[in-house]
Parts: sequence; structure tokens; C-alpha cells
Amino acid sequence: MSAPAVTAALDEVHILWTSEGMSCDGDTVSVTAASLPSIEDVVLGLVPGLPKVHLHNKVLAQQVGDEFMAAFHQAARDELGPFIFVVEGSIPNEKINGEGYWTSMGNDPVTGDPITVNEWIDRLAPRAWAVVAAGTCATYGGIHAMAGNPTGCMGLADYLGADFRSAGGLPIVNVPGCPVQPDNFMETLTWLLYQAAGLAPMIPLDERLRPTWLFGKTVHEGCDRAGYYEQGDFAKDYNSPKCQVRIGCWGPVVNCNVTKRGWMDGIGGCPNVGGICIACTMPGFPDKFMPFMDEPPGGKISSAMSSVYGGMIRRLRGITNTTVNEEPRWRHNRPKLTSGYAP
Ligand code: SF4
Ligand code: SF4
Ligand code: SF4
Repeated sequence: MSAPAVTAALDEVHILWTSEGMSCDGDTVSVTAASLPSIEDVVLGLVPGLPKVHLHNKVLAQQVGDEFMAAFHQAARDELGPFIFVVEGSIPNEKINGEGYWTSMGNDPVTGDPITVNEWIDRLAPRAWAVVAAGTCATYGGIHAMAGNPTGCMGLADYLGADFRSAGGLPIVNVPGCPVQPDNFMETLTWLLYQAAGLAPMIPLDERLRPTWLFGKTVHEGCDRAGYYEQGDFAKDYNSPKCQVRIGCWGPVVNCNVTKRGWMDGIGGCPNVGGICIACTMPGFPDKFMPFMDEPPGGKISSAMSSVYGGMIRRLRGITNTTVNEEPRWRHNRPKLTSGYAP
């Protein structure tokens, strides 16, 4: 994606965050575990160079009801000032809602009618300096958009169009994950805030609108168990510390960094700690990866090949490992030096 010049130099930014799409609020909860930086540090102005940030997220807000909704209405009237719009949860198709509506946030102050999330997106996305989709539901549709769903759910780019540009000239920024990895989200938000301050270049995104530095590698490439895979040593059940490809891990073909990054403070990261990768960050999730506990089709072939050459390499390494676990023979307490020293 091309990188336009940095033009913004904002010193104050609101973050308007709706989790009223088809959502479980899991991404908001996940983000409270971030430490690089923490959301508290960003809101309290403890990260040097960032604009002053005002966070409006219903789960983390002190205000409720009309007081909480006031900033959203102001933004829709262009009275709030620059803001980043964060969408959590997938977007239902309100064109097929029958007599009612699928999901809403707040009420129209005049009519008292519920305002759908789709209406909020229509009002706020074009006015936002940047638009961020947090979690796989918001990015690509996620669980709510799986086959057989009644709501016609979709991701934000499906709703707004892949060519959408915010008021700041940015494409939608997608940070997938179910939930989003906390530091992945905060690092992305921090980049955007530095960009808003005029201190960072255009955020680099791949063709699926993901930050390239976060989603450029596979789970497998960072997995603690990759050595077992290479040596053709596979887990037969979920109690094993070995590679889990034969019991359902999709890691070799999934773009996600949690095996490198961990989950909280560097700890965890699904396969590292015994959870198969079910590909929760992927646009094809969940349908293309089900049933979750079955061996992935590609895994059968690659693990069979790895079993042959990996098994042989493992045995040879076992011999070498035994050898290098023994000290050299000249380390002894006998009266004669046998180290090969030549005075
Ligand atoms: Fe919940 Fe996962 Fe959807 Fe986030 S992506 S709202 S955690 S179901
Ligand atoms: Fe790869 Fe999964 Fe095995 Fe880890 S557990 S090495 S990600 S297949
Ligand atoms: Fe999701 Fe797999 Fe990454 Fe775990 S390792 S967060 S299941 S994509």
C-alpha cells in the first residue's frame, strides 16, 4: 500500500469506541491487559509525544446513558474535534432486519427511537480522522458471520467498502483476533496517535488492511513447539508438549504473532501453552477451519513427510546430544595431564 506524506499535527484526539456491533465486548476487556503501552498510560498522557487522548468506551467509562452518548452525538454534528473511531463487533445487515433492528446504541434525542450501529457507522466513519476495526468480528465478520447466521453479518470493510478513506485519508485499519491481542491493538493505536501528532509515517497495512509488522508471519514461524514439528514428533493428545498439528493446529498457515508475543506481558500464546491454533485472526474464520479439533488437511501431508525425514534427524540429533552432554575425557583428577597441552 502506498504511503502518503504525513499531514496531521493534532494535539488532542478523542477515541470513540463502539462495542455495540454483534460483539461480546471481549476486545475491550482484552485491551485492558495491554502493557506496550497500557491504555491507562495513553489516557493519562504518560507516553511521550502522543496527543492528549479522551477515551469514550462504554465498558471503561464512568459516565452512563445520555452523558456517555453526548460525545457520539457531538461528533456526528462535527462539534467534538478530531477523533479515532473504533468499531468492535461485526456489522449486521439492517437491510434484512424485517420489522425490527439487529443492534443499536443510544436513542435519537428527538424521537426516542434506537439508533442502529449501522447508522452510527454511517455518521461517524466519514468524519473520523481514522477508523479502526478491533477484533475479528469487526474486521471480517467473525463468529457472527459464519454460515447459517440470520443477521447477514459482515466486517467493517465489507460494510464501508475496501476503498473507504477516513477524514484523515487513511484506509480502515484492521486488528483481527478473537479477542484482539492486547498489545497488538495498543501498538496499532499508538502508531495512529503518533501519526495524528505528525510524528509517524503512514501506518503500513497489508492487502487485508492489517498492520504488516504484526501479521506478516505465521503462528508456526514463532511457535515454541516448531522444533518438534521439524523433528517429526507429534502430540497424540492435548497433554503433550509436542507439536499439535495432528490434533487440530492450523498454525502453519495462519497470520498471527501471539506465539512470539505471548498474550499478557509476554506470557502465553495459544500453541506455546497447549492450545491448538484455530485461526481466530483470519478472514476465513471460523468456517474454513472447522471442525476445530480435526487435523487440518494440509497438516496430514506435511506432517507425514516431516515424520519420515524429521524422525531420522531426531535420532541423529539424539546421538549428538548424548555426545555433547558428556565432558571431554581430559577433565580428570589423575596425576597425568591429558589435555594435549604442549609447552
Ligand atoms: Fe467477542 Fe471475538 Fe467478536 Fe471480539 S472478535 S467481539 S472477542 S467474539
Ligand atoms: Fe506449528 Fe502448531 Fe505445531 Fe506450533 S503446535 S509447531 S504452530 S503446527
Ligand atoms: Fe488465534 Fe491462532 Fe493466534 Fe491463537 S494462535 S490468537 S487461535 S490465530
